[in-house]
Amino acid sequence: MVIDQHVHSACSIDADTPMKDMALAAADMGLDLLCFTDHCDLEHHLTGLFDPGCFDRDRLISDFSRASESVKGKLRLRLGLELGAGWRLKDKAAEIAAGCDFDLIIGSVHNLPSQPDFYFLDFEKEPYRTPEACKKLFRQYIGEHFEMIGHSLFDVIGHIGYPLRYMKRAGIKLSLSEYYDEFSLLFRKLIESGKGIEVNTAGLRKDFGQVLPLPGILKLYRQSGGEIVTIGSDAHDISSLGTGIREAQDLLEKIGFRYFTVFTKRKPEFFKL
Ligand SMILES: [Zn+2]
Ligand SMILES: [Zn+2]
Repeated sequence: MVIDQHVHSACSIDADTPMKDMALAAADMGLDLLCFTDHCDLEHHLTGLFDPGCFDRDRLISDFSRASESVKGKLRLRLGLELGAGWRLKDKAAEIAAGCDFDLIIGSVHNLPSQPDFYFLDFEKEPYRTPEACKKLFRQYIGEHFEMIGHSLFDVIGHIGYPLRYMKRAGIKLSLSEYYDEFSLLFRKLIESGKGIEVNTAGLRKDFGQVLPLPGILKLYRQSGGEIVTIGSDAHDISSLGTGIREAQDLLEKIGFRYFTVFTKRKPEFFKL
């Protein structure tokens, strides 16, 4: 089965393909299930205040209903959200979630408070250039996830290790073993709260060449007792739909997972790998 639970459409600021076109293409490719998880980054990264343009509920709902109609009987569709900074702007996050019957909410840390997305940080320049600065930033990045866990509005944590992509682009490679204690504690709290993680395959399509979280961190999650794990391509266009899903399934099995998770109305269901 190819189930992709992290896909962006024209409802995201950084994607252009309408949901209907993404859904039709996925049906043609023979995907079994697709979950749209368009961006909703609540905090304007420069002001730290609520960004009113981050989410268009009416458009999301009407695009989804059009897409569902076009692939009826051919492909199962789910409506999710990739929520950023929900734990910093809790009331706004609750308001958004209350207005849509989401299947899955991915909680993603794309930036530190009032700072740009890690994507936009130049790790070849000050103040991020040195390994020490990157180590400090990565520790702050992990810290944000503890804040997220304290707030219940998510089902899985998205692409754990996100800044590593952009550090690697600048030739900086962090050794993650020095963060294992933090990750172990994070996973313990995450599992206690009944939430999980995703395996994000976008890195396989890029120079990064790996999934996120990296295999060592996935292993740590498994050893901590983690069972809830979704898989998503993070596709922003048709050509990326469903890519890397089978590789991620194989990797999970090799690490010792027996199931992957599919969310419907925010309830997990487990499928054999
Ligand atoms: Zn993301
Ligand atoms: Zn995404």
